[in-house]
Amino acid sequence: MTARRIFGVETEYGITCAPPTGRGAAASGAVQDGDSHRTAADGDGSAVVTADDAARYLFRKVVQWGRSSNVFLRNGARLYLDVGSHPEYASAECDDVHQLVVNDRAGEMILDEMTEDANDLLFEEGVPGTIHLFKNNVDSAGNSFGCHENYLVRRRRDFQAMGEALVPFFITRQVLTGAGHIRVRPGGRAAYAFSQRADQMWDAMSSATTRSRPIINTRDEPHADADLYRRMHVIVGDSSVAETTTMLKVGMTDLLLGMLEDGAKVRDLALAEPMRAIREISHDTTAKVPVELASGRRMSALDMQEEFYSRVTGYLDDHGHTAELSGVQRRVLELWERGLRALRSEDPTLVDTELDWAVKARLIERYRAKHTLALDDPRVARLSLAYHDISPRRGLATTLAQRGLMARITTDEEVADAVSTPPSTTRAKLRGDFVAAAQDRRRDITVDWVHLKINDAAQRTAVLKDPFSPVDERVDALIAALEV
Ligand code: ATP
Ligand code: MG
Ligand code: MG
Repeated sequence: MTARRIFGVETEYGITCAPPTGRGAAASGAVQDGDSHRTAADGDGSAVVTADDAARYLFRKVVQWGRSSNVFLRNGARLYLDVGSHPEYASAECDDVHQLVVNDRAGEMILDEMTEDANDLLFEEGVPGTIHLFKNNVDSAGNSFGCHENYLVRRRRDFQAMGEALVPFFITRQVLTGAGHIRVRPGGRAAYAFSQRADQMWDAMSSATTRSRPIINTRDEPHADADLYRRMHVIVGDSSVAETTTMLKVGMTDLLLGMLEDGAKVRDLALAEPMRAIREISHDTTAKVPVELASGRRMSALDMQEEFYSRVTGYLDDHGHTAELSGVQRRVLELWERGLRALRSEDPTLVDTELDWAVKARLIERYRAKHTLALDDPRVARLSLAYHDISPRRGLATTLAQRGLMARITTDEEVADAVSTPPSTTRAKLRGDFVAAAQDRRRDITVDWVHLKINDAAQRTAVLKDPFSPVDERVDALIAALEV
């Protein structure tokens, strides 16, 4: 068996309140016939409601029941709003990639329901405008926000070395898992790129001293027994819209981590200038232009990802793990290989329902061809933004999926269930059950990733240092105490 691992994804969402033209006027028309449509960031940007105000509307109900804009949910996840920032959903701890995709999608559903409620409220109060939430990484003002991946790893002396080995992987992974981005080149012309986040990481890096810092956050906060574990906190990735892209992003990283934790070394792929490479690789949509390695060798992002792929599959074969891979792990490897083949053969149709950059490029190209539009046409920008709008009505993903243009790995039933049900195999189960019991009985509790506490005279608390364990007698006792 490949080692069991805990992982979770935090997603910060873009929020905006668009002027009232065609609330409910589905952007989805664009998928089929390219009807012009309006979404947020339309027009002159003269939003009636600021993003901060919109976020307050969004969290109004949450604050009512949770008395805070930082809450843990029945499904084990965390939902919060930092002052003046973006709504964030941090998935529950998962130990399976499919489970994670389901919990992450449940987060979108929760936020979409909150958006609908907030829009009803705006309407009732006579405030013109429609709130939109975007699963993307840059807003119209150029601000960047993140999608963090978290992977539990065993604590060991060479954590830093493992991080260094991962940097070239994370920098080149974007040619498969990037969200696709229309960027403005110096001089003003638009060009397609793999990643929204890559250009932003350049900024983040310029003042940093440690090479891996903006890729992996090295803050040592494991949310688990600190003697045994560390949390690999990856902050470089794009948010993913297509479920299969999330699956690949987390799944390939998990498999590579397993190989590294087992002692394999990847020293020879270090990049000479990582932060220059991340930008150049994002901009080179062939993925074939070489960048320089620390060794002096030159390799393209595609070469490097092929290398990572063959080392991981070689490792799995050599250690007899291949036969034991789960269904979703097999799918991860299959998509990884096919994504590489699509780039090598310059045939994006191999992955254009599965990898965000390709799904989006196809959508954009069809729309442009139909209406004879330049890449920097504002209508193209709106279409590109609507790809990330999480609303099944205003966004494009649901329609794309219905038309067979975006693959899914979950069912609607699974996702709806995960709105109120935690993953059953991890610590999230204990937290979810505790939160549910408290909510049902209107009891006051305080919760974080590790602690469950009843706020009464006795202040009973359970400290859950093992994120792998979904059963705990102390929590049973706490829940029993809530129920009396
Ligand atoms: P910040 O607010 O600065 O991002 P943070 O990184 O601690 O703080 P949270 O937003 O609270 O982040 O999210 C933590 C994420 O880590 C969640 O997705 C959660 O499922 C996941 N997680 C929790 N415990 C562990 C663990 N022991 N190992 C790996 N991931 C974990
Ligand atoms: Mg967070
Ligand atoms: Mg984080």
